[in-house]
Amino acid sequence: MDYKAFMIKYAEIGTKGKNRYKFEDVLVGRIKEHLEPYGDFAIRKDYGRIYLEAQSDYDYEDVVNELKKVFGIIGICPIVVEDNTDFEAIKAKSIEYMGERYGNKSLSFKVYARRSDKSYPMQSMEINSEIGHYLLEEYSEYRVDVHSPEVLLTIEIRDKVYIYSEIIRGAGGLPVGTNGKAMLLLSGGIDSPVAGYMISKRGVELEAVYFNAPPYTSERAKQKVIDLARIVSGYSGEIKLHIVNFTDIQLAIYEKCPHDELTIIMRRYMMKIAQHLAKENDCKALITGESIGQVASQTMESLYCTNEVCNMPVFRPCIGMDKQDIIDISEKIDTYETSILPYEDYCTIFVAKHPVTKPRLDIIKRSEEKLADVIDELVKTAIETVEVEKVSFR
Ligand code: ATP
Ligand code: MG
Repeated sequence: MDYKAFMIKYAEIGTKGKNRYKFEDVLVGRIKEHLEPYGDFAIRKDYGRIYLEAQSDYDYEDVVNELKKVFGIIGICPIVVEDNTDFEAIKAKSIEYMGERYGNKSLSFKVYARRSDKSYPMQSMEINSEIGHYLLEEYSEYRVDVHSPEVLLTIEIRDKVYIYSEIIRGAGGLPVGTNGKAMLLLSGGIDSPVAGYMISKRGVELEAVYFNAPPYTSERAKQKVIDLARIVSGYSGEIKLHIVNFTDIQLAIYEKCPHDELTIIMRRYMMKIAQHLAKENDCKALITGESIGQVASQTMESLYCTNEVCNMPVFRPCIGMDKQDIIDISEKIDTYETSILPYEDYCTIFVAKHPVTKPRLDIIKRSEEKLADVIDELVKTAIETVEVEKVSFR
């Protein structure tokens, strides 16, 4: 079947009162951005729906797959459009549509007509029963089931007539750009790309920061993070990725602090620097992939110590999730295969054999005092030498 148009359904943004128009405009903008490489589409808003009409050839699968990545969309309906709103034209188009879409195979159906123009000469009920009648006449294998039909043939009569029977599930959430911006701490692991995806789904634009430790971490590890940012940007839109050279800070911590506290102290400096970059770039929150109890640095006590350096909200959408649940999402969003590539996060020398699992904040702070002579300068240099890369799905 050759569809020339789609109707887009969205949920929550329809309920935002006066802001509704703003939300709709953002969603329309996102749809345009996503579809740009796939063809020329006329996009129009109308009574809580968005209509896309193809002005050029396009690949159906590609376009549907791309629309599934746009946050804010709950349903994608491939539709046929009839310009003539006369009943005879609607009838002919309905018969043609059902024939092309399903043929004369055994199925139960129900017709569901809606008129936005109440002055239309026929009532919805009347249209339902008339069209139903003609379909039964045309296709001997069809039967009517008004309670749970296999096919719900929806006919919307507006300025034109829109006919569809299929709703492909969209990503849900809110359009990116309707809820500010946050800074994602993006490592090469499984969890942080999922965390970024989940927060972006609530309409949040993303920037990201990666703490790199050359030569202890390889160029390939850095490239992996860039690749992950690119996959996430397929949903969130362009991501400004800040790459921090963290080597000297790690070495200083390694040299001066107890080895079983390395990870916690390092994580505290990551959060501090991430927060600094967030503030500089108008981000109102940080995002991490932490999950309670997953590793030593994510026990309740460790999270308490890590969080203590932050005074902006830290979003941890994976916090209550099991590893397998996080993996399931990473497979769905296509980051999993990249995340499991075996390039080290940081060299094993920086990870203690027996890290503290119940760090005490007062003790950690005392250990950090040993860095007093050097740390301000090192943090300053790390921030001044940040490399920025704009990563985008196109
Ligand atoms: P992930 O799978 O996201 O790497 P993880 O289970 O390996 O998580 P940790 O290494 O303890 O967990 O890191 C916890 C969180 O800290 C990560 O989810 C990420 O948000 C952040 N993080 C860790 N290492 C880095 C890094 N090198 N650069 C940026 N963020 C990092
Ligand atoms: Mg990790």
